[in-house]
Amino acid sequence: MSNAAGFSTRAIHHAYDPRDNEGALTPPLHLTSTFVFDTAEIGGEIFAGERSGHFYSRISNPTCDILEQRMADLEGAEAGLALASGMGAITATLWTLLSAGDEVIVDKTLYGCTFAFMQHGLTRFGVTITHVDMTDPENLRRAISEKTRVVYFETPANPNMRLVDIETIAKIAKGPRATVVVDNTYATPYLTRPIEHGADIVLHSATKYLGGHGDVVAGIVVGSVEQVTQIRLVGMKDMTGAVMAPFNAMLILRGLKTLALRVERHCASALVIARWLEAQPTVTAVHYPGLESFGQHDLALRQMDQPGGMIAFELDGGIAAGRAMMNRLKMIQRAVSLGDTETLIQHPASMTHSTYTPEERAEHGISDGLIRLSVGLEDVADIQADLAQAMSSQGSAIAAE
Ligand SMILES: *Cc1c(COP(=O)(O)O)cnc(C)c1O
Repeated sequence: MSNAAGFSTRAIHHAYDPRDNEGALTPPLHLTSTFVFDTAEIGGEIFAGERSGHFYSRISNPTCDILEQRMADLEGAEAGLALASGMGAITATLWTLLSAGDEVIVDKTLYGCTFAFMQHGLTRFGVTITHVDMTDPENLRRAISEKTRVVYFETPANPNMRLVDIETIAKIAKGPRATVVVDNTYATPYLTRPIEHGADIVLHSATKYLGGHGDVVAGIVVGSVEQVTQIRLVGMKDMTGAVMAPFNAMLILRGLKTLALRVERHCASALVIARWLEAQPTVTAVHYPGLESFGQHDLALRQMDQPGGMIAFELDGGIAAGRAMMNRLKMIQRAVSLGDTETLIQHPASMTHSTYTPEERAEHGISDGLIRLSVGLEDVADIQADLAQAMSSQGSAIAAE
């Protein structure tokens, strides 16, 4: 499929031709651990990288290969890699790029397990982790040096929705030739393609919007052929073994086919819910890039095609009020993860971001009262009605029964 085709067309067709597979509309599932060589010499050549071909499914698999090419295409990258989970993607990438003595500069707000991997994991192996508030790129300019090997951030950041200006950050990182790695889980390539803005490597928890149905844990990395080959052969094959199962690749390929449709609806409903939340007297703060009141609304308009399906908000009465409200919900599900068909609600301080100590959360701007809402694909009136009954005093009477 040519690059001139639209996003949805490429998400449905890229890198697969039924005529190569007995006319099967859906790509075959290659459930095989190993691959047979015609001769011993050919096997040796494939191992040496002198001849293309699969040899063992911890390195590559034809079903995963379609997903890898398709995700690379959607992100505007040369190559892609499918991994066992978002954390598999993150760890395989950083184990490949880093050595003892290197420095990683990361944004202040990171997904909880990413924070833990860096702050409590990589630091044990002689890697320096420096946290800067990248919402002001000047902070990066002051901190960066020749020691800086990687610049890493999420935009929008999980859980507080802060945005990072990819283009400005990438320009600053070019000086000392640091590799810019962006976690694009929240935005998906349908809303933001960080490589177009100068990023080097983009990674995903494909568990979220890319899969989209809450039935699989998976990860993706895209970047240049050279970088992705290194991550495949070093970080994935040898250092983590975090390989994606072919069946999971099939589920993510299925998710991608409706990504554009789903994200359109997530965005439309999230805007309605964010505006409604902002008008409630008991809601003290709403963080959603699509609101005019959002501190980085201009950057959202510049960098994101639409503001996404995630909202963070706080209630008067802090976490006690938040927990009581969450416990009164009837249709909205109390669960971590995001980007699913179901609307999901969770409390970062005690759940996804409990890997931070309370002091670290305070220092990194993750307030204890923050509630994270992943707006699902149900009818928006029903999502709003459930929140409304849970926030009303009548709701508290029901919960008190
Ligand atoms: C969920 C998530 C991850 C981790 O992905 P898994 O698939 O759960 O391993 C990483 N980054 C962000 C932003 C996430 O939301």
